[in-house]
Amino acid sequence: MSNTDTRDPTSLRTPIVAVLGHVDHGKTSLLDKIRGSAVIEGEAGAITQHIGATAVPLDIISTIAGDLVDPDDFDLPGLLFIDTPGHHSFTTLRSRGGALADIAILVVDVNDGFQPQTLEALEILKRSQTPFIVAANKIDTVPGWNPKEDVPINDTYESQSDRVRQRLDESLYEIIGNLSDEGFSADLYWRVQNFQRNIGVVPVSAMTGEGVPDLLTVMMGLSQRYMKEEMEIDVAGPGVGTVLEVKEEKGFGTTIDTVLYDGTIRADDTIVVGGMNKPIVTEVRALLQPRPLAEIRTESRFEKVDEVSAASGIKVAAPDLADAMAGAPVRVVRDRDLEEVIAEVEAELADIAVDTEEQG
Ligand code: GDP
Repeated sequence: MSNTDTRDPTSLRTPIVAVLGHVDHGKTSLLDKIRGSAVIEGEAGAITQHIGATAVPLDIISTIAGDLVDPDDFDLPGLLFIDTPGHHSFTTLRSRGGALADIAILVVDVNDGFQPQTLEALEILKRSQTPFIVAANKIDTVPGWNPKEDVPINDTYESQSDRVRQRLDESLYEIIGNLSDEGFSADLYWRVQNFQRNIGVVPVSAMTGEGVPDLLTVMMGLSQRYMKEEMEIDVAGPGVGTVLEVKEEKGFGTTIDTVLYDGTIRADDTIVVGGMNKPIVTEVRALLQPRPLAEIRTESRFEKVDEVSAASGIKVAAPDLADAMAGAPVRVVRDRDLEEVIAEVEAELADIAVDTEEQG
């Protein structure tokens, strides 16, 4: 979160956003575009690079979105995008009882329309009851399109020829029809009143940035309106997170890249991590964040920090992590009873095992 933020950071966390969709429909490009816009708009220091995730603070969203967003209407601190798109990471990454992601973007290529993995992603979103919006991507590939970099959809739509507009409309209505066939009532996002009941479709181009202001605005609005209560956390409490990846790191041994979704983790905490056979109880040796590019010379790629609060992506170095698993829970013990925390981690691991059997 940015230092200029005057809202109380102790009560509301950043919603965690996942990106899903069929291969080649533009998930990675869209994440890159959002990251790129955020870096360009952000003054030095405003963007915190996370491990495995990108935080886009509210002030940056409001700069990108221009007139679409009035920062005074929001008190959630921004959005945290998980960097690995796709349903494998979505289904692996869970928090107690549900998906780790609070909200999702389903990317659909406007020309290619619904494809097998689009349907799979919809099933997964339905099962996990994750609120989502649809990014109708690659609008710049509609024949005859006249691109306008990084502008809201209305500005670029107005400047297209009738023929081009008609082509785009046809593709968008086909997507809306496909969603309806799958049991989702959907419409173009500016017509949607209640995003809990209807799925908003946002036309975008990950290539030209057209519609990206709208996409961020809708995500922010949806979170603020319908998920604020779920974002209320005890920031000072013992941290709770999910292992994104288990990685060997030179000088640190086995580390776990972790997405923290509740509380705080500190560099001297004892943690319990889900392992292949049983929970691992260990002491944090270091909490690592990526070092800003400008500072990397001969030094480590990582910078040690004393503590991190949810929601964030952080690399945790600690002994005995070899058996840790991607998707497993991480819990800070702090002043809690160790046995109780172990029991919680065991229960969560049992849940994961049941789900894996059901799916596999
Ligand atoms: P992913 O497999 O869903 O992550 O898709 P990628 O982001 O790798 O994109 C697949 C291909 O589509 C790449 O060649 C991208 O450059 C291209 N692409 C993605 N988004 C757009 C877009 O909005 N417009 C155009 N013209 N190409 C795009």
